[in-house]
Amino acid sequence: MDKPRRFETRAVHSGGHRAGAKDDKDGVFYPISTPIYASTTFSHPNIETTDRVLGGEEQGYSYARYDNPTVRALEDALLSLEASEAEAEVRAFAFASGMAATHAALAAAELTGGATALAAEQLYGSTATLLVQVFGANGVETRFVDAYDLAAVEKNVAELEPRAVVVESISNPLLRVADIAGISEITRAGGAALIVDNTFGTPYLQRPLELGADIVVHSATKYLSGHGDLTAGVVAAGPPYADAVEQLRKLVGGVLGPFEAWLAHRGLKTLPLRMGRQCENARAIANHLAGHPKVARVNHPSLKVHPDYETAGRVLADTGGLVSFELAAEGREAAFTFLNALQLCVKAPSLGDIYTLAIHPATSSHRELSPSRRERLGVSENLVRLSVGIEHAEDVISDLEQALERL
Ligand code: PLP
Repeated sequence: MDKPRRFETRAVHSGGHRAGAKDDKDGVFYPISTPIYASTTFSHPNIETTDRVLGGEEQGYSYARYDNPTVRALEDALLSLEASEAEAEVRAFAFASGMAATHAALAAAELTGGATALAAEQLYGSTATLLVQVFGANGVETRFVDAYDLAAVEKNVAELEPRAVVVESISNPLLRVADIAGISEITRAGGAALIVDNTFGTPYLQRPLELGADIVVHSATKYLSGHGDLTAGVVAAGPPYADAVEQLRKLVGGVLGPFEAWLAHRGLKTLPLRMGRQCENARAIANHLAGHPKVARVNHPSLKVHPDYETAGRVLADTGGLVSFELAAEGREAAFTFLNALQLCVKAPSLGDIYTLAIHPATSSHRELSPSRRERLGVSENLVRLSVGIEHAEDVISDLEQALERL
């Protein structure tokens, strides 16, 4: 048997060389990059084939809302990174955004009238709002739990008997690391579907399906594509959820377009290179800031003082590209002075790009929360979050240094 190919090799080679062309004039050739199939519909040599393709009896393409070769190439590549060969029934689906993917994952877990969802209280704000407002309007009750407290998750699953538990592998902005292996034992025993948003982790750091999760979602807008130039989402799941996700995507129509799929696939090929460098840079930056007199506290799972240092060692292959820190100076004004002084780091929301991005979580990702809830979650006014890029770490550190000197 051939040796299984490693992650880096799969990232480069999977999902490529879609279809060759045979032409009397040009001969047979295979494009090295999957072409962008900008075609709404696909025709076949005869209508019988079209009938079989539409009926699912024969592999093929019929209509772009159902399937598209460029999108399929991306999905094949994502699948090769997200699931092991043992998980042969797992499928990956590309969506037009991370939120469209999350919506499909929640609906595929049968969150319908009368069901309860147990969600991490540290969840991305729009996911929490989607659960409360959209699923809530259809009779789903969402309860929140500290997902980084295994005993609390166990107690809530036993008491509430939720249909689904929704967590993130790494939380924003304190970078708490969920014990997915431990949570999946609890959800298995309690009969709940475990949905893991692995946007911050990516399959480079963790493959939640291998740790017992049922459905994985990503905002592919972030690390998977990695260049800050597109919006996309992914769901990866095995039976019975995969069929439900496919059907939902066909009916709701949140499909990824072929241009974005091509760009995302191109970005995905360098995921291991980018993430490797981002983790390395983030560690260097976290270490530097940890000893800085103008910084009160640094959050990064590579630091021994991080509450999930031990969990990260068990469930992540590396410690991630995000770092957050509280300035020694108090209040929003200090954070704004620091951010305005940055010259290299880009002041913008989002994360996972090749550029180092810096934001103020209290007025961006956590803006909609009340000040007391922000405080309870540890999102203080002087907290800054960095999504570390692939620049030379010393250049980023110099920029941070000169901005800290302004305080
Ligand atoms: N999940 C997480 C953890 C996110 O940070 C985001 C966006 O920031 C999303 C989901 C939503 O992704 P998108 O903006 O691609 O819809």
